[in-house]
Amino acid sequence: MGLVLQHALVVTVDMQDRVLADADIRVEGTVIEAIGPGGSLKRQGDEVIDCSEALVMPGLVNVHTHAATALFRGLADDRPAAFWSRGYQVPGQERFSLDDYKLSMEAACGEYLLNGITCIADRLARMDHLATVLEASGIRAIVGDTLMDRDGPADWRTTDALLERYGVAPRSRVTAGIAPHALDTCSDQLLKACADRQQAHGAHVFIHVAQSRDEIAAIRARRHAGALACLQNAGLTGAHVVAAHCLHLSAEELAAWPVSRISIAHCPASNLKIEALTAPIHKLIGKVAIGLGTDWTVTNNSSDLFFEARLAALAGKMIAGDPTVLTARQMLRMMTIEGAAVLGLDHVTGSIETGKQADLLVLDTLALELTPMHDPVSNIVHSASSRSVRDVIVDGEILVRSGCLTRVDQRELARRHARLGAS
Ligand SMILES: [Zn+2]
Repeated sequence: MGLVLQHALVVTVDMQDRVLADADIRVEGTVIEAIGPGGSLKRQGDEVIDCSEALVMPGLVNVHTHAATALFRGLADDRPAAFWSRGYQVPGQERFSLDDYKLSMEAACGEYLLNGITCIADRLARMDHLATVLEASGIRAIVGDTLMDRDGPADWRTTDALLERYGVAPRSRVTAGIAPHALDTCSDQLLKACADRQQAHGAHVFIHVAQSRDEIAAIRARRHAGALACLQNAGLTGAHVVAAHCLHLSAEELAAWPVSRISIAHCPASNLKIEALTAPIHKLIGKVAIGLGTDWTVTNNSSDLFFEARLAALAGKMIAGDPTVLTARQMLRMMTIEGAAVLGLDHVTGSIETGKQADLLVLDTLALELTPMHDPVSNIVHSASSRSVRDVIVDGEILVRSGCLTRVDQRELARRHARLGAS
């Protein structure tokens, strides 16, 4: 028995960016088995989802999250950049317990799914406790436990346990990566150790890069010319290294960046909110893999990748002084297949193609914000929002149906999460 999405407008985001006007997608188990003309793929016993008033696209890929921090929402708006220099401390964070963070992880994963996000790259401390909650949500994820040695030796035990438990090649929806915190909170020795460990495991490495002026000053004090040189000197180069933010890079570093092949997690809302800056990705698009991240909830209170893509496009046009850069087609790819490429999962997810895992997003084409549909790609990037999302499928499993989570009672989850608010 399979699952057939019938009579859909399909935005494939394949190599040719094909858009199919009336098509069926048949899912067998976890995999897209066939794509064919509308009404042609249903077999006896199949479950059918009527998509005659729907657009089906690949699930969204969010390449930089800290899901368990959803409980920080609204705790530190409108602060000066210097406020964050004390290790990104959040006022009142000491009152939250591990159980609170686990509940927050559950709420965040539910929110991602409801917003059409089917895959995340998530990192935080204590990921050994948090990853099981993430796993229970059904979302696809790469998880990393934060490594740093600013205040004492780095503790590799959780990273090793995650690599052992989940592996680096997908054998379930969750895989593991290596997650050094940042270039100023990790010593050169630790960064080199991460590069060595990457070589041994083939894991992706996730790190915050050039997020603040303080970080660049700390890097220079260690006699590196800048953030890129610091990464290069540690051996942290290649597409499997994912640098989040990349705000404080010189013109020379931006020009040299493509040679390093380091992938970028672009988080414009978070960056604009706390640094009043965003990375000039128009200079790097097409040269290295770039995906979009919503980052943590204290610096980007929303987890809406549609919003993130539109902001990236519009702020990017402003920075470039050129309204022709960061086209709708490029932004759609950044939300999906390019994000998957950043995570090394573009053979698994990020486009609708036969043989790929069925990570699918169904938008309601009768949502008023999607009418009229002269150009589906334009509507997805410039007018869709999380409220356009109808159904969400990961690995062939329907995790959101008609705007509701299927694995959990979302109103009860919201009720429990709301109790973490200041009383
Ligand atoms: Zn981050």
